[in-house]
Amino acid sequence: MATYKRILLKISGESLMGEQQYGIDAQRLQQYAEQIREVAAQGIQVAIVIGGGNIFRGLSGTSKGFDRVKGDQMGMLATTINSLALSSALASLSVKTRVLTAIRMEPIGEFYSKQKAIESLERGEIVLLAAGTGNPFFTTDTGSSLRAIEIEADVMLKGTRVDGIYTADPEKDATAVKFDEITYDEIYKRGLKVMDLTATTMCKENHLPIVVFNMDKYGNLKKVLNGESIGTLVK
Ligand code: UDP
Repeated sequence: MATYKRILLKISGESLMGEQQYGIDAQRLQQYAEQIREVAAQGIQVAIVIGGGNIFRGLSGTSKGFDRVKGDQMGMLATTINSLALSSALASLSVKTRVLTAIRMEPIGEFYSKQKAIESLERGEIVLLAAGTGNPFFTTDTGSSLRAIEIEADVMLKGTRVDGIYTADPEKDATAVKFDEITYDEIYKRGLKVMDLTATTMCKENHLPIVVFNMDKYGNLKKVLNGESIGTLVK
């Protein structure tokens, strides 16, 4: 039995690269689409936010001389490209989707509203929320927490390439230990880089639990939603 009725799934842009250095890996995209189709078929309402780091990040653009606001707008367009790619991969599996964008850009997607998102979710469509918050100086993590709260999701699932939150970066420190559960305050206290602090604070203030888990292990999304204790629960 599924534990959650409505979820917001955040996928980082980087994980869409698969083994590549840049862009979108078709196989990875297909794996994500299959896993999402499977949980949606269980009757779980799924909204998705995808990052853009596999194509462009405002901050790294700034360090190369781009204007920050323009760079962030490029980043928001990158998240839209990824959303269209996932929407297309889902459609090829006969899954109905709706792309809602935080910046007007019809006919690429419809302009976001909470009402449109909820109507689609209740019809069983997968809703892709593109272009982050629509504002520069934010990230898609903040876009995810904002949208998750707005659409009254039961949980925000942060799909990453690590198994959860560790005491230190497990890719750099072999002694790092994983938390099964952690509080928002503990994240601040330990200075853990789970999400940016704006996103973490929004979740804390609105009592939105987060599950950080490894989305690259096939079947993990279903496991999290079926209540198996994988990943780290933040609450
Ligand atoms: N971005 C933004 N406002 C938002 C969301 C994203 O300006 O509300 C820009 C920002 O430049 C960011 C880029 O889009 O670097 C891509 O998003 P993010 O870095 O969050 O992607 P991820 O790390 O998840 O791949």
